[in-house]
Amino acid sequence: MLDLKEKSQQLSTITQMSAGIAHEIKNPLTAIKGFLQIGAANPELRDNYQEIILDEVNRIEAIVQDFMMLSKPKSSLQLEQVDPEQLVSYVLRLLEPEANEKQIYLLLDCDPIQDTFETEPKRLNQILINLVKNAIDAVDLGGEVRVSIRMSSTKLTLSVRDNGPGLTPQELAKIGEPFFTTKEKGTGLGVMVTKKIVSDLNGEISYESQKGGGTTVTVSLPK
Ligand code: ADP
Ligand code: MG
Repeated sequence: MLDLKEKSQQLSTITQMSAGIAHEIKNPLTAIKGFLQIGAANPELRDNYQEIILDEVNRIEAIVQDFMMLSKPKSSLQLEQVDPEQLVSYVLRLLEPEANEKQIYLLLDCDPIQDTFETEPKRLNQILINLVKNAIDAVDLGGEVRVSIRMSSTKLTLSVRDNGPGLTPQELAKIGEPFFTTKEKGTGLGVMVTKKIVSDLNGEISYESQKGGGTTVTVSLPK
C-alpha cells in the first residue's frame, strides 16, 4: 500500500506527465493543421508539405508508442528462454540501415555463451533498440557502437558503448527525466521507457559518461 505522501507524489507525476504528453502532441498537431490549411487554400503547394506532415505524424506515433510501453503492467511479462547472442544480433541487424547511413560500425563482443536466459524477448529487444539508437544518434560519422554480452552464474550483463561526445554531469543527471532531449526530433522518452522496462525485468541500469569520452550504458538482469 502507498502512504498518502507517496500517493500524492504519484499523482503529481501523473499530472506532470499528462501535461507533458498533451504539449508534445499538440505541437506536431498544430503544425499538421497549419500545413493542411495552407495546402487546402493553395493546392499547388501541397506537395511541398507532404514530407513535413509525415514527419510530424511519425513524431506523434513515436510519442504514443513510448507511452504505451510505460503503461504496460509488469504482470503481463511473457517469459521465454532466449539465446542472448541471437537476440542482440537480431537487434543490430534491425538497426544496420540506420548505422550504414552514418557509416557507423556496429560491433558485437560476446563470450561463447552456451546457456539460454529466461526473459521477455520483446522487452529486452526494446531496451537494446533504445540504447543502440541513442548511441547511433550520439556518434559522429564513422563512429563506433559496441554491444557486449556477458553471462555469469547469477546475471546477464549487456553494455552499449559508443565513442560519441559523452554527457556532462548536468546532462547525466537529467537523462531519463521525461521529455529531456537534445535532439530536434527527439521525444525525450526513450531512456525513461528503458528504465521502466529494466525495472519490470528486476534489473539495473547505469550510465557512465564523460564529456568527450563517449558513453557506456550497462544493463544487468538477474538470472
Ligand atoms: P531522445 O532519444 O528522444 O532524445 P532519450 O530519452 O532516448 O530521448 O534520450 C534523452 C537524451 O539523452 C538524448 O536527447 C541525448 O541528449 C542524451 N543521450 C542518451 N543517450 C546518449 C548517448 N549514448 N550519448 C550521448 N547522449 C545521450
Ligand atoms: Mg532515444
